[in-house]
Amino acid sequence: MTQIVLTAFEETLFRKIASAAEKLEVPAYAIGGFVRDKILSRKTKDIDIVCVGDGIALAHEVASLFKPKPKVNFFKNYGTAQIKLPEIELEFVGARKESYERGSRNPNVETGTLEDDQNRRDFTINAMAISLNQQDFGALLDPFDGLLDIKDKIIRTPLAPAQTFSDDPLRMMRAIRFATQLQFHIEVSCFESIKAQADRINIISKERIADELNKIMMAPKPSVGLDLLFRSGLLAKFLPQLTALAGTEYVDNKGHKDNFYHTIQVVDNIAPHTNNLWLRWAALLHDIGKAPTKKFEPGHGWTFHGHEVISGRLVPKVFAQLKLPLHDPMQYVKKIIELHHRPVSLTKENITDSAIRRLLFDAGDDIDDLMTLCEADITSKNKEKVVRYLENFEMVRERLKEVEEKDRIRNWQPPISGEEIMETFGLSPSREVGNIKTAIREAILDGIIPNEYEAARNYMIEVAEKLSIRRF
Ligand code: ATP
Repeated sequence: MTQIVLTAFEETLFRKIASAAEKLEVPAYAIGGFVRDKILSRKTKDIDIVCVGDGIALAHEVASLFKPKPKVNFFKNYGTAQIKLPEIELEFVGARKESYERGSRNPNVETGTLEDDQNRRDFTINAMAISLNQQDFGALLDPFDGLLDIKDKIIRTPLAPAQTFSDDPLRMMRAIRFATQLQFHIEVSCFESIKAQADRINIISKERIADELNKIMMAPKPSVGLDLLFRSGLLAKFLPQLTALAGTEYVDNKGHKDNFYHTIQVVDNIAPHTNNLWLRWAALLHDIGKAPTKKFEPGHGWTFHGHEVISGRLVPKVFAQLKLPLHDPMQYVKKIIELHHRPVSLTKENITDSAIRRLLFDAGDDIDDLMTLCEADITSKNKEKVVRYLENFEMVRERLKEVEEKDRIRNWQPPISGEEIMETFGLSPSREVGNIKTAIREAILDGIIPNEYEAARNYMIEVAEKLSIRRF
């Protein structure tokens, strides 16, 4: 029997749990993600403890062995309890046996043995347990050869995959998520089964789908999961705007790149440069407007005119359909996407300060993120081209820095407020006030006047005169 080598901290903690379990005469085990991650040397935030008996009672007994005694949060309906220690969280539950009905992912639950509890787990690598009982303390209980699957880097279900995925279709997303996070392969029959039942993802709430998708997006190489989601047919069920980008088309021997595969490469490219989930989302959605704007122009080739605007416009719909947060993150993603071609146009020669100022003004604090996306968007296979494009963006970054240091446009508010305009001309809030304010802002951005109060005030008076507005 394989013996798991515990750290000193784990040994002390588990000995405490073992003595509490012995006192209550309930066999206890560490199970699931903790065991998997321990074998893989990955960090974990929590440890699931399963006992053959009352999990809440065990949690109280364990808590009483600590000084000071930690709080036990428990949920009677679910039979679960939680203890937050400074170093780690412990989750306690009684061993369960589950059976499913077809229309729901909520199982009928009854108390069961350790084996019953391992049978209901999703993957062999998640079904391993470590004994916390005196007679075999630290032994690995691995009925489905999870250890071997970890060694071979395989995701496999303990029971028949068709049944496992049909019982709880969220497991299809989890299989792909683990394959992405751990860089494992999904066993062939498992993947075939996911393909066959992709439709069943429709009974899963969008929040849970998005949760898994976000974990895939935060992996070091998200394209692994995005490609699996695409090939399994799952992605089309909840993000059809993205799968619409897949494929190439040829007319008159002229083709265009596969924009789906381009997109997932962009997500991979941006991953090492940011842990901001929403910037990664901006990379994922930056080209979704290419499907609706695609056109073949004879003599010219394929065009996607204005796709960045359409991509931006589709963002609220995608966020709503996946129940992603609709306020700040959505606005941020939309803005970055709408602007993602602007730095490209600034790579040409003879770019004026005013074009640079405009981008600084429009992007504000998100300018660096925007540049990061533009750099990630380079997916050419031609190395020289990549180097050239990157150098161009580096030049844009330098210009942005220069102009920002000079003019302070980022997060800038024009020096004349709406109130001052209203007071000066005795106006109430109206379109005229807006027109004057815009004229001042545009004049500063265009470099017609300097970004200073006096110049702006004089310009305001000039504009008002032209509009035949008299001073109060
Ligand atoms: P992570 O902590 O990385 O999100 P995890 O699987 O370790 O992943 P949980 O989602 O909390 O963390 O799940 C804990 C354990 O519960 C899993 O290891 C697995 O044994 C079991 N489990 C979780 N979800 C399911 C499911 N949908 N079907 C079957 N077993 C599941």
